[in-house]
Amino acid sequence: MIYGGIEAGGTKWVCATGTGPDDLRTSTTIPTTAPAETIDRAAEFFRGGEGLAGIGVGSFGPIDLDERSPRWGTITTTPKPGWAGTDLVGELAGKLDVPLAVDTDVNAAALGEHRWGAAVGLDTFCYITVGTGIGGGGMTGGKLMHGLLHPEFGHMRIPHDRVRDPFDGICPFHGDCFEGLASGEAVRARWGIPAERLTDPHAWELEAEYIALGLVNVICTLSPQRIIIGGGVMNEPSIFPLVRARTADLAGGYFDTPQLREGLDDYIVAPALGNRSGVLGALELARIATDGTAPS
Ligand code: ZN
Repeated sequence: MIYGGIEAGGTKWVCATGTGPDDLRTSTTIPTTAPAETIDRAAEFFRGGEGLAGIGVGSFGPIDLDERSPRWGTITTTPKPGWAGTDLVGELAGKLDVPLAVDTDVNAAALGEHRWGAAVGLDTFCYITVGTGIGGGGMTGGKLMHGLLHPEFGHMRIPHDRVRDPFDGICPFHGDCFEGLASGEAVRARWGIPAERLTDPHAWELEAEYIALGLVNVICTLSPQRIIIGGGVMNEPSIFPLVRARTADLAGGYFDTPQLREGLDDYIVAPALGNRSGVLGALELARIATDGTAPS
């Protein structure tokens, strides 16, 4: 059985066919332009789905994942121009003659890491991306997190000291939520340069502060066995050590477990699959939907 996977991001779509990290048959990257054009190009890559058992889609959001909803698979309140209200799954289904499975981009990445990467053997963990935006997902008790909508780690409220950082934040819905303060777009808006060109150590200390505040909330509410953080902002070499140290400080010695006492090096980690977690997880989404086996 060969599967197709789409990591449908707000900047680019990564499409691939295969069965896993050692068996990627074909792949391509498509810039995210207008919905119709992007969806057409993805469908063209899969040539109608010929030879594939199913296609998994890990999508940016927010996206309706309630299978009983008439809007299942529709992008909802995204600020991304042109995409709000796009029936992503319906449009793809109209062009591809194979079963489709859909989840959030971060849940797909979590699934990839669970099958092949940094979350093998865990049943409760989080995958967070700090890139253009901030998103989070993962598993609790061996199942991908869904619930009422789907988790929206990026829009939690975190403390904001306006004396230290007078920046208002860039979230069109909340201003200074986690994403509004700490996403790649927030970094660019606050400092006037993209994160990959930011070298000021104070700027990175502030970024680590916000990420650590987000992580401590996640630790308190979800009790993850590990937190995996991907996304372009995390390419800065100093960021993981800064985030681990600040998270340990903010935890205040309260969590009496070796993972949170001993340096956090194995607790807050980069994706083991690098930037392929999402598209590989999308293949795994398709496999689970097709053969019905839950992740192990
Ligand atoms: Zn927000």
